[in-house]
Amino acid sequence: MTWVTRLLKFVPVTAIAQELVRFDMQLMQNPDITGVAYQQGTLAGYEIREYLLEKWGRQCAYCGKSDLPLEVEHIVAKANGGSNRVSNLTLACHDCNGRKGAQPVEQFLKRKPDLLKRILSQTNTPLKDAAAVNSTRWALFNALKAIGLPVDTGTGGQTKFNRSRLGIAKSHWADAACVGYVDVLHVPSIKPLNVMCAGHGTRLNQKRDRFGFPRGAARACTDYQGFKIGAYVELDQPTGKYAGRWRGNLAGIRADGRLDIRVTRKGKPAKITANAKYYKLLQQPDGYRYA
Ligand SMILES: [Zn+2]
Repeated sequence: MTWVTRLLKFVPVTAIAQELVRFDMQLMQNPDITGVAYQQGTLAGYEIREYLLEKWGRQCAYCGKSDLPLEVEHIVAKANGGSNRVSNLTLACHDCNGRKGAQPVEQFLKRKPDLLKRILSQTNTPLKDAAAVNSTRWALFNALKAIGLPVDTGTGGQTKFNRSRLGIAKSHWADAACVGYVDVLHVPSIKPLNVMCAGHGTRLNQKRDRFGFPRGAARACTDYQGFKIGAYVELDQPTGKYAGRWRGNLAGIRADGRLDIRVTRKGKPAKITANAKYYKLLQQPDGYRYA
């Protein structure tokens, strides 16, 4: 909500889309979609595939192999009157799918009674949290609606379907942009702003051990000459090993008036200590880190 409020201040937002649920059970149970449901590219097909991957643990139901292409498998073969309902579907690797063919599952797995029992019991049990969603998402949904803008909701399967249909590589921002109903997405040259929660530090002045006695040194100073811990600063180091210009977050304030800055040096995180007079404040900490 912090970010929704912030964005509303800077851009003319006309609608909000939220990924509310992981699967749309209604879409999957709708008889109208059977038959075409497995064609790659239809939303229902995506929803079902994602659901099955989750339900069957992203592995072949018969041999347990993962990290290989999995096919949608009818437990009771269609040739034997098996239905297209999700409860009759599982995922199998190409080999197992071919080997099973139209055989009844009881015959195909007659040498693996334990596995057969497990598959049959799992068949009629819907994925527990498929329809249920975590309550946080609903709380967020209600808070978003209270803003007064139209709130569009989508499923995780729909997000993936949109992204794949529009040919956009997977990334955090792309997933966010593909939530809900998306017709076209204009991606000229997007450079996303990465925002990470960094917290506001601790209010604790002294750490304690499990007996309640003071442990370690008392909290050091968190504010010095206008510099706060976590602030985004620029260091212009005149001499020495770290001579040059650095940007990063302020990591520490020392008793002698020197400041620590956390930077990336030669691709690795590093900490540089320098006199406060070489620092320039770029942004005070606001609980987030940006990149
Ligand atoms: Zn297999």
